[in-house]
Amino acid sequence: MAKQVLIIGSGVAGTIIANGLCRQIKNELASGAVTVTMIGATDKHMYQPGLLYLTFGKMRESEMYRDQRSILDKRVAFFVDPAKNIDVEAKKVTTESGRTYGYDYLVIATGSRIRPDMIPGMSEGAHWFYDLEGARKLRDALNDFQGGKVIINVNAPHKCPVAPVEITLMLREFLTAKGVMDKSEITYTYPIGRLHGLEPVAHWAVPEFQKHGIKSETFFNTKSVDAAAKTITSEEGVTLPYDLLITIPPHTGAQVITDSKLGAGGWVPTNKLTLLREGSDNVFIVGDTTNIPISKAGSTAHFEADTVVDNLSSLLKEQRWSRNYDGKVYCFIETGMTTGTYIMFNYTTPPNPGPPSHMVHWLKLGYNRLYWLSARGLL
Ligand SMILES: Cc1cc2nc3c(=O)[nH]c(=O)nc-3n(C[C@H](O)[C@H](O)[C@H](O)COP(=O)(O)OP(=O)(O)OC[C@H]3O[C@@H](n4cnc5c(N)ncnc54)[C@H](O)[C@@H]3O)c2cc1C
Repeated sequence: MAKQVLIIGSGVAGTIIANGLCRQIKNELASGAVTVTMIGATDKHMYQPGLLYLTFGKMRESEMYRDQRSILDKRVAFFVDPAKNIDVEAKKVTTESGRTYGYDYLVIATGSRIRPDMIPGMSEGAHWFYDLEGARKLRDALNDFQGGKVIINVNAPHKCPVAPVEITLMLREFLTAKGVMDKSEITYTYPIGRLHGLEPVAHWAVPEFQKHGIKSETFFNTKSVDAAAKTITSEEGVTLPYDLLITIPPHTGAQVITDSKLGAGGWVPTNKLTLLREGSDNVFIVGDTTNIPISKAGSTAHFEADTVVDNLSSLLKEQRWSRNYDGKVYCFIETGMTTGTYIMFNYTTPPNPGPPSHMVHWLKLGYNRLYWLSARGLL
């Protein structure tokens, strides 16, 4: 009987695993000893970092999407049929269509989603760029904006650790180029007592913000937004007025994780080295879905996926473990419209952002195009 690998989620992690695995186990696939099946929620694949550029009119929607089938190895059986319940005891996944999928190895890569509805008034009073509709609306609002108080409001947990810093620094240049920065004031709010969760990034951001006149309000845990009064209030009792509110809403994991009782908030308890679900030896958790205290980022998903590919192929071919995940993350940071820097870190080595340069900005623009090779598992 063929060994069945089932992947739930057709985003960054799921796609890299499906494609990478097919290359590593080509003989087993050809002989019918192994099958690889993926179930997703959509037949489109979005390059989510593109939303930041879309907001400033620097990327077209067509550049951000591919048909999922077109970037997936032909040997993967792909179904658009969202998982409704995951039963890790019975080794069964049931889907919205009522189908049931069995597996020998399961990969859960259902990502995370924004939840502006969790904060009273946020959906009505705030803009965001973390989904397509939000980015389109914010782009229109920025085009209409004639100056005033802008608040960049960061809530946790959220994916892409550096996107809030990027939009803040890019926005300043955007408003300067538009000729309204002298009539504007940008305030960045953050829930803990510094500018970023990663301490070295927080230290790096202080002079970057200061030199551009960007104000900040730390220990700001959002309580509510009053869309009519145009104010945002924190649990700590601070109320800030705004003309334009840009929020990074709080996130949760996918609904199916909570419904299947696999983890509070939709985050699955995961061994940070093996990426196995705590208590399972055949269920891998990858990307934003894990509860590992590490940045939720496409690059995290990518490096985790590479580890899972090596381990799944070793387990399938040789019944042995290959290697552990070392916590590697690499993120570009746009520091304006034409400059950038980057951070690279793992479980033992903290990030160390350097001075912004044009070269790193261009590398990020290059990666925005190379992503499609990355998703195919070629980069
Ligand atoms: C504006 C923005 C900028 C970003 N910039 C960067 C950046 O510069 N660098 C970086 O590294 N990261 C960045 N990220 C973060 C990055 O996109 C995510 O961390 C990454 O996509 C996570 O990969 P994933 O595979 O875990 O989840 P995703 O890529 O989100 O994929 C999850 C998939 O699971 C599917 N799914 C959900 N529920 C079900 C279900 N029940 N059944 C089947 N399928 C389901 C979803 O439809 C989705 O296709 C950015 C994100 C945003 C929004």
